[in-house]
Amino acid sequence: MSNERRENLVARLAEAGLAQPSGAKGKAPDSFLVTKLDNVRYLTGFTGSNGMLLLGRDGSARLFTDPRYTLQASAETDCAVTIAKGPMTKSVGKAIEKAGYKRVAVEQDHLTLAAAAALGKELPSRTETVPVAGLVENLRMVKDAGELESIRASVIANSEALELALRELKPGMSETDLAAEIDYRNRRLGAERPAFDTIVASGERSALPHAHPGDTLIGAGILLIDMGAFRHGYASDMTRMVHVGKAPGKYKQAYAAVLEAQLAAIAAVKAGVKASKVDKAARDVLKKHGLEKEFVHSTGHGLGLEIHERPRIGRKDSTVLTEGMAITIEPGVYLEGWGGIRIEDTIVVTATGCEVLTPSTKDLRTI
Ligand code: ZN
Ligand code: ZN
Repeated sequence: MSNERRENLVARLAEAGLAQPSGAKGKAPDSFLVTKLDNVRYLTGFTGSNGMLLLGRDGSARLFTDPRYTLQASAETDCAVTIAKGPMTKSVGKAIEKAGYKRVAVEQDHLTLAAAAALGKELPSRTETVPVAGLVENLRMVKDAGELESIRASVIANSEALELALRELKPGMSETDLAAEIDYRNRRLGAERPAFDTIVASGERSALPHAHPGDTLIGAGILLIDMGAFRHGYASDMTRMVHVGKAPGKYKQAYAAVLEAQLAAIAAVKAGVKASKVDKAARDVLKKHGLEKEFVHSTGHGLGLEIHERPRIGRKDSTVLTEGMAITIEPGVYLEGWGGIRIEDTIVVTATGCEVLTPSTKDLRTI
């Protein structure tokens, strides 16, 4: 499977140098040094915390890592492995020299200045680096069947974790207590780690879209929970609202408006549609309710090996949605001094629409 991914990438590499991020036109690279770990994992299966992958247009693939991963690297990957005993760039430089590569593509958004300088010292004098951007990330947007299964399992476990955690919600519990309960439940259900810092925001604090849980005790009123976990490497992401005690009219109205916006965005999703059009569908509904200024972020984002991936479901993203993309749909409104409401599902784009993976109810919920 990884090999198929590498072949796809190498096919794109042939065109990469022709349209560089700088706008300069040049010859296509003959090789690609992948340094972003999530991309290395995607292309090789290697899950270690230190590694680089050198791909050649000739079809060769070599993973570089350090001695801690000698056993793991050969067990996880199907490509050649070099265990670097000294600086990794030195081993990479040697391999490039031996293969005779002249134009090595590098990931400009991920290669640090220090690593670039170290690599520069090791490259043969007539070999140059070619900065490229988003090559692997664009491939990663469309998930294969195995990836979709992993995301589905992650999403279902995440929903189960919410139900188990909410059962433990008691008077006197703080936001941090509930966040800990959520993380614990996800872990017990097989997650490796949270996909991001779990958000539990009660009362007025829910008006902060990315509130960190604090000592605030969860009392009567709004409760916003945004949670996700990595399971077999793949992320889930969901936001649900709970109203502690009887919900007042203002809350019910705002909740209905956000839900209407969320459902409109979901209904707009289909292969062939631009991401910006899905964002507009949510924004138009909130505008109708006079809430467009309170919607301060994008409608959603791709997810997979990372919690935030391409595409961005925002005003300016012209990415055309394609079958197999996994994205979130999460409009929200935030009113200072009152609170916030967000509803978020993970969905998969299909030829005729989409499939909502998140099983948790979106009915107005009071506890
Ligand atoms: Zn979220
Ligand atoms: Zn999200």
